[in-house]
Amino acid sequence: MKKIALGVASIATIGHSASALSWFFPVTKRIIPTITGNNHSSSYTALSFDDGPDPAFTPQLLEILAEKKTKATFFMLGQMVAKYPTLAREVASEGHDIALHGYEHRNHLFRSAKTIAFDLKRGKEVVEDAVDRKIELYRPPYGVISGGTIYGCKKSDLRVVTWTNWGRDWRAIATPESVIHDVFRHNPRGGTVLLHDSDCTSAPGSINSTIGALPLLIDRFKSESISIGPIVAR
Ligand SMILES: [Zn+2]
Repeated sequence: MKKIALGVASIATIGHSASALSWFFPVTKRIIPTITGNNHSSSYTALSFDDGPDPAFTPQLLEILAEKKTKATFFMLGQMVAKYPTLAREVASEGHDIALHGYEHRNHLFRSAKTIAFDLKRGKEVVEDAVDRKIELYRPPYGVISGGTIYGCKKSDLRVVTWTNWGRDWRAIATPESVIHDVFRHNPRGGTVLLHDSDCTSAPGSINSTIGALPLLIDRFKSESISIGPIVAR
């Protein structure tokens, strides 16, 4: 499994900056369903947001999700939660699932196992403190899984979940239409969608494309009779 995970790591690294890896999602969907969050029924797709909480974007997304009666999983950054603990708690109190995206947003390929383990422990403590809930899921920055990621997760009792479909909403040129197109580029049934609720690690203002896309995206899932919700349905 470690060998496969490392293979995914290098692919995912390229994938986040380049993008034309059309074979990537179908392949990962088949071989590592629990890591990619592709272990849902074909009538369900998980919805997830990374990099927040961010006062500029998260409240707007929360409002849309509440209007559409939709829950999601938020992979929070410890350093954002440290700045905005009240907002983190608000996300949790709205009934969304809270998960960890690390304390710092750093690529695991260039960090030691010890440093990664410390980052995960520190992040988990900060997020659990803010939301008063045990954190079980972890998504590494850029979806990069190294041996250190596996080690750090084991030490902090976390399970890695990446994604099967993404909206590429971190790009300056992203639009609501491009986000929806990218999410449905590959069949999302049974998988996990990656979106963002902060632009703190991407192009400034890019997440406005997510805000524009989200209501239409939820409607599209409904029109295709696909339920959407958090990665772990509660
Ligand atoms: Zn991220």
